[in-house]
Amino acid sequence: MEQIKKPRGTLDILPEQTAAWQYIEKIIREKCIRYGFGEIRFPTFEATELFSRGVGDTTDVVQKEMYTFRDRDDRSLSLRPEGTACVVRSMLENGLYAGAMPLKLYYLTNFFRYEKPQAGRSREFFQFGTEMFGSDSPAADATVISLAYSVFRELGLKDVKLHINSVGCPNCRPAYREALVNYLGGYTDKLCPTCLERLNKNPLRVLDCKSPICSEIASRAPKTTDHLCDDCRNHLDALTALLDEAGIPYVIDSGIVRGLDYYTGTVFEFIDERIGAQSTVCGGGRYDGLVAQLGGPQMSGVGFGMGITRLIACLEQEGLLKTVDTTPDIYLAPAEKTVYGKVFALCEALRQMGVKAETDLCSRSIKAQMKYADKIHARYTAVIGGTEAESGIVTVKNMATGDRAETGLTAEAIADAIK
Ligand code: ATP
Ligand code: MG
Repeated sequence: MEQIKKPRGTLDILPEQTAAWQYIEKIIREKCIRYGFGEIRFPTFEATELFSRGVGDTTDVVQKEMYTFRDRDDRSLSLRPEGTACVVRSMLENGLYAGAMPLKLYYLTNFFRYEKPQAGRSREFFQFGTEMFGSDSPAADATVISLAYSVFRELGLKDVKLHINSVGCPNCRPAYREALVNYLGGYTDKLCPTCLERLNKNPLRVLDCKSPICSEIASRAPKTTDHLCDDCRNHLDALTALLDEAGIPYVIDSGIVRGLDYYTGTVFEFIDERIGAQSTVCGGGRYDGLVAQLGGPQMSGVGFGMGITRLIACLEQEGLLKTVDTTPDIYLAPAEKTVYGKVFALCEALRQMGVKAETDLCSRSIKAQMKYADKIHARYTAVIGGTEAESGIVTVKNMATGDRAETGLTAEAIADAIK
């Protein structure tokens, strides 16, 4: 029969890769605990309206990239394309904002966007994301930025560059928007069709266009940083002062605008040019209007999303990709049927002591078992037959050096011998 293939743009992540994923996830989770962020998990699908209202009707994500469907009760649902709107919804629904503020949450999960699959871009992808609610202090921005930075640093990535900008607030953005539309209006014959569409709906997105002509036009456009109100200017200055103080390097980059509508004030990206066109590993910013827009109280928020596959690409590029150690410590080979049960129990006892132990599961000959032990890269092997069972002494062999050592036929003695 014909085999079924996975849908386009999805990933199979196999054991040899998940060992690296687990290593990264472990670092991320440890960092989140140190920074006081609690993990939140939320549904894979939500009401479509959550995203049209929360992410914004004019964004590419909502207009073109959502997996939207009707369920059997004719409700419009969508697979989550991002996490912020989901977290806000959950926070409001569960009354989390009534607790200690600021509220610091993180997630490590999969998202879905109908995009053109390419290097660094898939239809199901994975993000580490954080959201902090209830602080409008620049220290909140600096904290989420430094959390992302500390993950990069812990992984050994030194060339991921932090780019910061401010897209202004409802006070100063309209004037900036007008200046930008005026400027871009002079290039309607040159802008790409997508940007022409964006011009009236979402002109800031033009600054983010990857087409060479549009980006050349964008490079000479009015800068948000020249149009900030005093509050936004002071916020940006205070943020950069904190980053300076903490020794976190950054550049101010007026080209950073972010794709989602909810951003206000601070926006930032961590970029590694060396992994190709999809070079933004982490993107985030402030979204002070989002909670209210989703029916909650006026409450500020700041956070980021970090793409795990792009992070892995950076690590691969630098030869820094490590894995959690899944190599078996020892392979126990039963040499005859009579000791099968004893060896099985020994293997169980070793595992309970924290040793990665393996034994025969296929009734193989000793020769075939040794071949298998070699294939799975077991660090030690021990052959156990009637003689060993009787004497209570077993020889463990170090597979790398060939060294042999005799020890007692108990889990404790074996664990000790292979330490
Ligand atoms: P891009 O401009 O690359 O499309 P974005 O602005 O749509 O990114 P966000 O919604 O801010 O991205 O998501 C944050 C991060 O999640 C990105 O910086 C990226 O690392 C990762 N990411 C987003 N979309 C994808 C995807 N389709 N495949 C893989 N990773 C993705
Ligand atoms: Mg995108």
